[in-house]
Amino acid sequence: MKRVLFAALLGASLGMFAWTLRRFTRMLLAGRPESRSDRPEERADSVARYFFGQKKVIEPTTLPARRWPRFVSALGSKYHFLIFWGFIVITIGSAETLAQGLFPSFSWAAIIGQTGGEILARTIDVFSIAVLAVIVFAFFRRIVLQPRLIPMSRDAAAILSAIGLLMLSYFGMKRLGAPFAEICWWTHVVVLLAFLNYLLYSKHSHILAALPNIYFRRLGQRGILPKLNMEADDIAATGVVQEWKDFSWKSLLDGFACTECARCTNFCPAYNTGKPLSPMQVIHDVRDDLRTRMPDRGPLDTLLDHFQHGAGAAADEVKPLIGGRTSEDVLWACTTCGACQEVCPVFIDHPEKIIQMRQNLVLVQEKVPSDLARTFTNLERNGNPWGIGADKRMDWAEGLGVPTLDDRPDAEYLLWVGCAGAFDDRIKKQTRALVEILREGGVDFAVLGLEEGCSGDPARRSGNEMLYQMEAQQNIDVMNAKKVKKVVTACPHCLHTIKNEYPQLGGNFEVRHHTQLIRELVEGGKIEMDAVETAKSKVTLHDPCYLGRWNGEYDAPRAVLGALPAGKEAVIELPRNREHGFCCGAGGGRMWMEEKIGTRVNHDRTDEIIASGADTVATACPFCTIMLRDGVQDRSAADKVQVLNVSELVAKSMKRKRELETANSPRSA
Ligand code: SF4
Ligand code: SF4
Repeated sequence: MKRVLFAALLGASLGMFAWTLRRFTRMLLAGRPESRSDRPEERADSVARYFFGQKKVIEPTTLPARRWPRFVSALGSKYHFLIFWGFIVITIGSAETLAQGLFPSFSWAAIIGQTGGEILARTIDVFSIAVLAVIVFAFFRRIVLQPRLIPMSRDAAAILSAIGLLMLSYFGMKRLGAPFAEICWWTHVVVLLAFLNYLLYSKHSHILAALPNIYFRRLGQRGILPKLNMEADDIAATGVVQEWKDFSWKSLLDGFACTECARCTNFCPAYNTGKPLSPMQVIHDVRDDLRTRMPDRGPLDTLLDHFQHGAGAAADEVKPLIGGRTSEDVLWACTTCGACQEVCPVFIDHPEKIIQMRQNLVLVQEKVPSDLARTFTNLERNGNPWGIGADKRMDWAEGLGVPTLDDRPDAEYLLWVGCAGAFDDRIKKQTRALVEILREGGVDFAVLGLEEGCSGDPARRSGNEMLYQMEAQQNIDVMNAKKVKKVVTACPHCLHTIKNEYPQLGGNFEVRHHTQLIRELVEGGKIEMDAVETAKSKVTLHDPCYLGRWNGEYDAPRAVLGALPAGKEAVIELPRNREHGFCCGAGGGRMWMEEKIGTRVNHDRTDEIIASGADTVATACPFCTIMLRDGVQDRSAADKVQVLNVSELVAKSMKRKRELETANSPRSA
């Protein structure tokens, strides 16, 4: 009788699970196609490291929020590792329990031998106790410590209770005598099968979705936006996202793979300065929108929605995704810094989705904040976001005799100046410093002069794909006509766009950041430097997001700073550095938008710089320079901290060397 009852329960449960799985898979496959099946070995390696090894979960991070005792943060991030492995080991035990329901004599010991079976049983015991302890900690964490982003939701309570009950019933059926052992056996089986069927509707869908999400993660260059077809006749054919199914199937899978660890939001500069943006919530919005629009929704879905989200569920269901469920303020708050994506243990790509939704606001709904609309007009009329006449693009080079490619068609490098380098008075000095270094180092370079236009980064990152493609295509046509092969630029935003995104439009160039080239010149002994006041003092580095996180270059600026005569010991690290560096607030078009909500991102970063004790902060991006100089001025700290590009520090040091040589030469004596 027991066997028949169990077989019926198991059959019904597995049948329902298969139906649910098919239902969700069909919804995912309704998304746009996207190829993610290349490099299978590398993908398998990712699964080994990041799924089974939980590498991102256990890696040390510098939390931006200083609101936590350190041990709580550490425990909070590591306990998932324990739960994960506990779950795997316990699943082996649960498999035995289920098999015994059909074949009472089944046991692992019969297969792997008595000793092996004994070791396995003790291992399961140990992990079960550990998982029970972790469940108690999880309840304590959510109810007592109340992390700001991980509340005690009904969903979480149900899941944690189910896991706890599974562990207790496991011990009950192993240790207690009849009839309690029998009751525990049935409890274990029923909870296990119910848990299996609840999984896909809960945050624990990640138990099933995390592995494929890691396997199908983006490999290679990060941060390349999918190209929209701006020549299409109707908006749907452009590829612009209008609702959930316009995202790729992989973007939809992201929502089910989210572990709700909140790391993305904890590291988000917008969230940390009081904006309404939580990248975790953006991912959930897409997933929840999909769930509420499933064509075969029934009363069970409504019941589950109300259980998980309470009375607000119905109101959310009628809202459109873009600008509704995910508000405009949320979408415009993003600086596209990539801090969220960097820390996500299951490789969810948040900024891409945010920019795709911005494209909808700009291209479909025509809802653009007024300050950004002004910037778009400036770009259309003058080819730069500042709106300064395009005929002034070469004013920065006055008196320097910088050649254009028409003067030197065979120059090895095109020096891409960028709009900030050409039009902003503070940044023009950095461009002049760079020219000095290139000349001293014997680099053969020329510029496009008045033929250079905006690279298109501000337009593309703020959702104006139409304007971006116009700007980019113009530049590519000019560069291809002049047979440009190598480009060097001081702007990481231009670098990212020209190097990684111009190939989508037929522009293929080898692009280097100026710190990479300067490093080569310094290490090759092509330029010589001497100690100057700034080089003797404490220098710190602010990592630009588009150089570091998006293009993986953290070492070049550090190597150049370390080569200054004051040496490596004069360079100090900010608490949030390299992969976890904190944004300056300018990316994603935010440079040209008022920061009306919360506090300013650049103030947060400036405070950290001032607190570091450095008297010079080196930058490697024009936008960062502008934001940090504003921050230092707003904090009345201009006499304490100077903001200089790495190139300015090097140029000063080279000048000092020349002065000393002149002073010591026999003629001056
Ligand atoms: S890209 Fe940066 S600003 Fe945007 S959501 Fe991610 S962490 Fe926040
Ligand atoms: S998106 Fe990634 S980092 Fe953010 S909560 Fe989900 S799993 Fe964690």
